Amino acid sequence: MEIDKSKQYEIIVFPNQDEGLKAQRVLVTKNIDYKHISTLAVAVSEKYRQEICRILIDNGVPITGYYKFLYRDYEEDLLNRAQAYKASPSEGEFLKTITLCYVAPCMADEKKIRLIAYFDRDITELLPYLNAVIKGASYNKNASILTYAKERRLINLYSIKVTIAKASDIIDAWMILDEVKKLINDTYRRRDTIKPNYEEKVKVTALQIYGWLPKTNCRACGDATCLAFACRLLLGEQKLSKCAPLSTESKFSENKKIMQEMAEALGVA
Ligand code: SF4
Repeated sequence: MEIDKSKQYEIIVFPNQDEGLKAQRVLVTKNIDYKHISTLAVAVSEKYRQEICRILIDNGVPITGYYKFLYRDYEEDLLNRAQAYKASPSEGEFLKTITLCYVAPCMADEKKIRLIAYFDRDITELLPYLNAVIKGASYNKNASILTYAKERRLINLYSIKVTIAKASDIIDAWMILDEVKKLINDTYRRRDTIKPNYEEKVKVTALQIYGWLPKTNCRACGDATCLAFACRLLLGEQKLSKCAPLSTESKFSENKKIMQEMAEALGVA
């Protein structure tokens, strides 16, 4: 399929290469037009995406998710990066596979994507070691969650899964997942030389966010109070830019800077 820039497309993502290849066989057999992105993803017309997903599912192909193929993605860059992407080998390693099980646009920014992927084994015992090696990570021992930011992306490591918010696109997501796998395997290999860190860093709370807001309850953001806005921002259901006084009034410029950094780390900017 040739990409027509006047039309809308969506990218459908598959959990692994076997399922991706199976999907492309079904698409060819059914004579369905699609653009090959890689063995893990295809682009299809937005108009027919729902119908195509149904056909794939009816033919036994599991789908991880889909998101809008944006104009910027039509540039050769995405296709080149997709071709160049190669998962690192994991033979004999602690963690062999990370299976991508959910992909969707970010709630706070639909130009970015969020995802959930599952490990092939439990990494709970390794979390304190990862807490020791990842700079600025936040560890919640009781819930077995390690949170850290990589540039604008927010990464949460759980016992058996990883969630990522604000990945730029599916190639970015695959590369981050590969980095996560390498980091876990490298930490496992070196665990005898690492002192595990059980320290739990203080997390950002809704009240802290509230403290940086204008606290006028003006409702310009659509929420009844600044505290409600803070809670919803923390949940990824609000955008920082929706607070008009914070965005436009110079007296809040310092607060805005702090909030922007915090929101970017949380993936809700
Ligand atoms: S727009 Fe900002 S100042 Fe107004 S209620 Fe919402 S969070 Fe508070």
